[in-house]
Amino acid sequence: MIKGPGILREQNQKKILSLLRKYKQTSRKDLASMMGVSKNTVSIIVDQYISAGVIREVGVNDIQKVGRPKILLELNEDAYNAIGLVIHHNGIEYVVTNYSLNVIREGFETIDCMDATYVCNQIIRIVSALLDEYSNVLGVGIGVPGIVNSREGIVYESTNLQWKNVNISELLKYSISLPIIIQNSVKIASLCSNVLEEDFSNSSFFYIRIGDGIGGAFINDGDIWNGESFTSGEIGHISVDPSGALCGCGQKGCLEKLISEKAFREWLSNLEKGIIKLSEVEKNRKIEETLDKYGSYLAVSLISIFNIINPGKIVIDSPYNQYEVFQTSLKNYLGRNALKIPYSNTQIIFNEEPYSLLLGAATAVILNFEK
Ligand SMILES: [Zn+2]
Repeated sequence: MIKGPGILREQNQKKILSLLRKYKQTSRKDLASMMGVSKNTVSIIVDQYISAGVIREVGVNDIQKVGRPKILLELNEDAYNAIGLVIHHNGIEYVVTNYSLNVIREGFETIDCMDATYVCNQIIRIVSALLDEYSNVLGVGIGVPGIVNSREGIVYESTNLQWKNVNISELLKYSISLPIIIQNSVKIASLCSNVLEEDFSNSSFFYIRIGDGIGGAFINDGDIWNGESFTSGEIGHISVDPSGALCGCGQKGCLEKLISEKAFREWLSNLEKGIIKLSEVEKNRKIEETLDKYGSYLAVSLISIFNIINPGKIVIDSPYNQYEVFQTSLKNYLGRNALKIPYSNTQIIFNEEPYSLLLGAATAVILNFEK
């Protein structure tokens, strides 16, 4: 397809903002070489952004070097805002960020989220109030627990909210005249890598989040891979023990059934209710044994990820990361059982802090704008 000058120009404008967001400070010349366009093309756009107050000049660098010094540019990160929302069963969490995804406003409204129409009306109310305060909002990103058709903004199914086939986009679009991005909450959280990790968005990675459920997302070149029916990444329903407990999905020994936070809580409460009173030392030993097993179970599912997707990185957000035994058992199992080539080329990252769903929702807005 041949692109018209208008489209090319718009793409160049967005690319400049995206590069400045990523590199913080750079020059017209470096922007031109990164984008593969002439310095003149860059200068025309940059000068317009400077007069609109979106970009500013911040002096020169390399004064010692021969040749003309470069004038550095940086974003006025407050020129644009993003709104991120996450729907939980007991309320709506929201955030307003600036263009560099720094949080400038955060809140939580407690409401019963079982009635989708009511929830959408509350979203309209929250967003309208925020738009009264912030005038340069680029869009609204919404994270929903469940299977979400992100192309059409339809929640196919959410066990957590007890929703089925809710067209959120339809319910919101007449009242919110901004781009609205609706995505599964774990998938949207994975976008945080764009903000937190250097050069992360250019590689492929698989993100796993362990909470009361277990979800995942595969991101390639900064894009979430949704799959044909938007269920890609559902690592929680990989069976890791054929003789394990029956899962709601019909299989036995699903990862979610065995190692979710809910499973851990149930196991711990059974242990504490036991007839024999355990000493603190014995209890800790039992916990270590269990987390050792959890590490191996997660590793079994990761082998499928290695073999089918072969990502460059695997990012694990789990409450068990703080236990060394969990990490060691996972790595040992992979070392013994995974194919050498994918394993030795995959970086496994145990996050110390989980990615924020809210920040992910705001990031979705910025990435959508820069597309
Ligand atoms: Zn299952």
